Amino acid sequence: MRAAVLEKIGGKFTIEELRDPTPQAGEVLIRTAACGVCHSDLHVVHGNVTFPAPCVLGHEISGTVEAIGAGPSVFSVGQRVVGTFIMPCGSCRHCRRGHDELCETFFVHNRLHGHLYDGTSRLSRTDGSAIAQYSMGGLAEMCVMPARGVHALPDDVELDVAAILGCSGFTAMGAVSTTGQLKIGETVVVIGCGGVGSSIIQVAHAMGASQIFAVDVSEEKLAAAKALGATHLVNSKNVDAVQFVRDTTGGRGVDVVFEALGLPQTVEAGVMMLDDLGRLVMVGLAPKDVTASIPILHMVRRKIQILGSYGARASSDMETLIGLVNRGLFDPAKVVTNRYGLDEVNLAYSDLEAGKIVGRGVVIPGRASTKG
Ligand SMILES: [Zn+2]
Ligand SMILES: [Zn+2]
Repeated sequence: MRAAVLEKIGGKFTIEELRDPTPQAGEVLIRTAACGVCHSDLHVVHGNVTFPAPCVLGHEISGTVEAIGAGPSVFSVGQRVVGTFIMPCGSCRHCRRGHDELCETFFVHNRLHGHLYDGTSRLSRTDGSAIAQYSMGGLAEMCVMPARGVHALPDDVELDVAAILGCSGFTAMGAVSTTGQLKIGETVVVIGCGGVGSSIIQVAHAMGASQIFAVDVSEEKLAAAKALGATHLVNSKNVDAVQFVRDTTGGRGVDVVFEALGLPQTVEAGVMMLDDLGRLVMVGLAPKDVTASIPILHMVRRKIQILGSYGARASSDMETLIGLVNRGLFDPAKVVTNRYGLDEVNLAYSDLEAGKIVGRGVVIPGRASTKG
């Protein structure tokens, strides 16, 4: 199969012919329809997070089941599926207590070593040498996933756009529902309206937020945010976003702020946009030595909560998200704005880095390369 291989950290992707992967017991082989272009992959490319190379990145996929590993399975060949970027083991201490978003087996085996839970990667070169896989290694024509990360898709969802459910939609669901515990009628600010932020707007809108302030520096992203349910658009290049939010809410601030950028200044601004008892949900990732400065008196006196949010629970949140899709309350097609062939993978990530992707880009391994 063809795959986009990152030979070394800091380098470029090259398209290579790899051996077709084989699923083991409890795993599913998926023919990749699309793979989302996400900032987390860029963090690996730039060495902001440690990951072995050579590797195949891409952790947000949709596709059809090509083969099933030994043993019973709830899936059948040809079924349309989406994969979550966290692929829980189901048996570690976090999985057993219902927090599979923190699955230790996944983080140790996959995120530290780039393999699956038997200690090997399913990816290899034609000479047999191993290639690390980031999650399922979705930037390839096929990928293998533990079945616990695989979810059946409704028939009427287009496969190309469904990929974004596996990371940006999934992360938004976890942030709004599980971590943020958003209640009907609450007011919300979303800082950063790219792939994850725009998905947060859709989920918050679906879950009954009364006001949604979208904050970004791109007019294009703000216009898109409006179409997804944002009620107030704040271009923080032109206005003081904290002041705007406070003025518009009668000086109070909002109930929940979602910070999707991972920048110190936006985390700090987020705290100051909150009403008493407000929650700041931190979703954006940052290089590991980045810190933000928090005003102690303000936090204590106003009982502000800061909540880290990573991914979501594949065991439960993903089904809730797919339920929203089924009822037309979350439309992945509204998130996907750019499509690339596998040969255009370097362009896809340079577009992402340059802020040229308004919502989410997807790489479509079966697509002939044309600018898109
Ligand atoms: Zn991602
Ligand atoms: Zn686990």
